[in-house]
Amino acid sequence: MVKFRRNSTQKAKAAVIALNKAKSSRKSYNTPEVNAALYEMFYGKCYICENKENFSYQIEHLRPHRGNIELEYDWDNLFLSCTHCNNIKNAKYDPILDCSKVDVDLKIAFRKIGYFGTDEQYEFTALEDGVEVKNTIELLKETYYGNTPQKKLEAVHIRRKLRRNLSDFKNLIREYEEAADIDKEDYKHAIREEVSCSAAFAAFKRWLLWDHKERYEELLPFCGMSLESNHNLK
Ligand SMILES: [Zn+2]
Repeated sequence: MVKFRRNSTQKAKAAVIALNKAKSSRKSYNTPEVNAALYEMFYGKCYICENKENFSYQIEHLRPHRGNIELEYDWDNLFLSCTHCNNIKNAKYDPILDCSKVDVDLKIAFRKIGYFGTDEQYEFTALEDGVEVKNTIELLKETYYGNTPQKKLEAVHIRRKLRRNLSDFKNLIREYEEAADIDKEDYKHAIREEVSCSAAFAAFKRWLLWDHKERYEELLPFCGMSLESNHNLK
């Protein structure tokens, strides 16, 4: 989970107008304008699991509205998620970190631990105290591992995509390291894309670099980090 900017784009403005209209006539918030604006803001990516492929979109209320129409039609409360994550989050995890306001990956470390021939698993480490951080970590664990027989099966597919993405990203970094000087800038550009908020599983990729920060110092600014960043690493 990484930060997404809620910019006031043309699509976002149209979504706010559509939401106000729907609210006054008590119609659904699920309008074409709202969907288009969320797709733009989240780059077609689920904000919770960061998967970009093969999922059905749902409009997610960060704070469950529970019939409160202010929360139900509030543009700032609407997020794009996949069905898998939306069903898991439901009203169960509240409050969680608001990724349109805070850098979640600076409050939680995202790591794959273990390697080939051992048990590999995904680990989420709190870098700060607080109920939002705690709830977000519990949600992430359920997202990547499932909580019912069906959700466990869906989680296998998400983890498979995540593992492949990380493997490709590691190869990209290795190629960057061995590239001739003349090619370095092209590789840097590719790496910048891979750790941007629009990329799949960006939080895990950023932490691969951060965990080797001395070695990849020149790449850290792409991740919104620097050697001077005061991460309370645990
Ligand atoms: Zn998801």
